[in-house]
Amino acid sequence: MYKNTVFDDFGSLVFNEKLMEERLPRPVYNTWKKTIAKEGTLDRATADAIAHAMKTWALENNTTHFSHWFHPMTSTTAEKHDSFVEPGDSGEPLLRFSGKSLIKGESDASSFPSGGLRATFEARGYTYWDFTSPAFIRDRVLYIPTVFVSYNGESLDKKAPLLKSIEAISTASTRVVNLLGDKDVKYCTPVVGLEQEYFLIDKSFYEKRLDLLLTGRTLFGACAPKGQELEDHYFGNIPSRVNSFMNDVNIDLWKLGIYAKAEHNEAAPAQFEIAPIFSNANIAIDQNQLIMDILKKTAEKHNLACLLHEKPFSKINGSGKHNNYSIITNDGQNLYSPGDKPSENIRFLLFMCAFIKAVDTYPELLRMASSSAGNDHRLGSSEAPPAIISIYLGSYIETVLYNIYKSDKNIESHIDKNFNPIHGLSYIPHDNADRNRTSPIAFTGNKFEFRMLGSSLSASLVNTVLNSSIAEALNEIADSLEGIKYINDVRDKALSLCQEIISNHKRIIFSGDGYSKEWIKEAKRRGLPNITSFIESVPSLLDDKSIHLFTSLNIYSEKELRAHEDIFAEQYQKTIELEAKTLIKICKNEILPLMVKELKLYGETYNACNKLAPNYLVETIKKISTFIENINKNLIVLNEQLTLCNQIPYVYEKALKYHNDISPLLCVIRESIDKYEIIASKDIYDIPTYTDMLFKKL
Ligand code: ADP
Ligand code: MG
Repeated sequence: MYKNTVFDDFGSLVFNEKLMEERLPRPVYNTWKKTIAKEGTLDRATADAIAHAMKTWALENNTTHFSHWFHPMTSTTAEKHDSFVEPGDSGEPLLRFSGKSLIKGESDASSFPSGGLRATFEARGYTYWDFTSPAFIRDRVLYIPTVFVSYNGESLDKKAPLLKSIEAISTASTRVVNLLGDKDVKYCTPVVGLEQEYFLIDKSFYEKRLDLLLTGRTLFGACAPKGQELEDHYFGNIPSRVNSFMNDVNIDLWKLGIYAKAEHNEAAPAQFEIAPIFSNANIAIDQNQLIMDILKKTAEKHNLACLLHEKPFSKINGSGKHNNYSIITNDGQNLYSPGDKPSENIRFLLFMCAFIKAVDTYPELLRMASSSAGNDHRLGSSEAPPAIISIYLGSYIETVLYNIYKSDKNIESHIDKNFNPIHGLSYIPHDNADRNRTSPIAFTGNKFEFRMLGSSLSASLVNTVLNSSIAEALNEIADSLEGIKYINDVRDKALSLCQEIISNHKRIIFSGDGYSKEWIKEAKRRGLPNITSFIESVPSLLDDKSIHLFTSLNIYSEKELRAHEDIFAEQYQKTIELEAKTLIKICKNEILPLMVKELKLYGETYNACNKLAPNYLVETIKKISTFIENINKNLIVLNEQLTLCNQIPYVYEKALKYHNDISPLLCVIRESIDKYEIIASKDIYDIPTYTDMLFKKL
């Protein structure tokens, strides 16, 4: 109906279902559809036909290469390009892309983190086509989403476990739905909507800050006189330079079939958000990786730098990635939709309870999965959720659940039906829950919003944990319901299961202020874990209950979990080591020489004033001298500590020592630099300040 709009190219760079229907022979298309609907498997001939159609389409769109695209155990994606052109039998060039090349690729895995799953000499890694996520084109390359495994089949990536967990939650949800009488449901899908926060600064500032360039965050920098106290940035008018950046981002995303929907200024100066419409968890996570990459690359084109780090600037809000989660049946029913009368919607109540039980059983895993060295700076900083996991349900749903628990006959709760903010509107949609920004997990009407996840992280692991733990709770529910003959008895039993779960897990429900000091005490009284650093949450992977959860659902083997512990510890340690080395370099090559230069200026003036030098000069000389002494002294300690740390042979112990001994030293050194910056003269101090980066040139 609408022609010649920017949306004409929507999805033009993605090999989606519509294209497959148009371009594949009907039997091939049908086989693919059946495979997606979990009713069949994909054979070689079908793969060959799909590969051929993909190649034709890709070549028509000016591609020269194809690439298996995968998610190694880092936060980015990996790719190796192969061109389509090969010599044919007659020596003439041929353009080839077989079903085999589509399904399987081999690459050298030795330079990816494996946590010892692979000895160095066992270098083979294999990529296998994930046919549930569509292939797409970027910069002349046809990208094929894949999983990445070792020669022995162990996962070396984040996608393979995610896909297994999607399978597990589908099976468990379908069991419960079927047992409650809806036998038409064949499978269920977890769906995810990811809101991505980021900062934008002018590229010229970025390039002058070695800390941003190498570590993604500022390791020093005094607060700007203005912060976010006037609350004038959130949802404010978007600067035109940023608007044109967002426009280019959206156009790229729409071409890739990504429904980029919301965009706005975030709370901190120079901070923004983009949110696409939710889709199945696997695709949403693939798309989020693309969004992060497109944000960064588009920023470069606009002479900007996009910062995805969780806390690029101290003392102002950091960035998160809100993970909105629900489960949908293959016929489109949202299992977290309460309907008009939640109290009578036994299926909704059971799925709520399964969620509550899952979160209360594995809070440590969730905390670990949503974090990293970077996110440690954000969690619990009075702007982001605390490191304590709790769930906010909203008073309406909370009352319904408590009434069930208390066996109250009248379990319905009420939303104010007279709610009418504007005269003359007969239809007024009203949410069944208010917002609680301080809660790490909030029920927001028909989905859960998980707010702990760090902005730079892949959302795979957190969804793998959510899927697995909810699947376990649902399977236990299904086991209890199985074999009951009459549907009324099933409902009675379901209600008593809800009662039992609420009774055992109500400690995780909290609607108060998650940022308050009282909550920390209250959470302790309730026995909720408060793990303040990421590294201390890593061993939760190897808790007996975690090993049981993941191995019984076939998501991770114990060996893979051990490897993950090593990988996370090593990444954590390397992140802090890089920060330490960067700060040392900055101090030696930039900060100390600047201080000396300043001291020289003051010293010369002092001498020139002879005995009449004002106190100000003397005080400033003293101050700068003290800063120099402090920095120098602490750099010596830092170097000694680094040597000691690096003598520790065990990865985890080493990482813990980095946390305990290196990180605090970085803060101590920073203190002197920041104090110096406050009094530094503008002519001498030529490093971009917070004021420059957050308030200028946008
Ligand atoms: P906000 O959290 O700012 O209110 P929205 O309501 O727009 O933002 O939703 C945030 C994200 O949640 C979007 O990506 C949206 O598509 C997604 N979302 C909406 N409904 C669901 C659902 N049922 N399951 C999962 N994600 C959802
Ligand atoms: Mg949100």
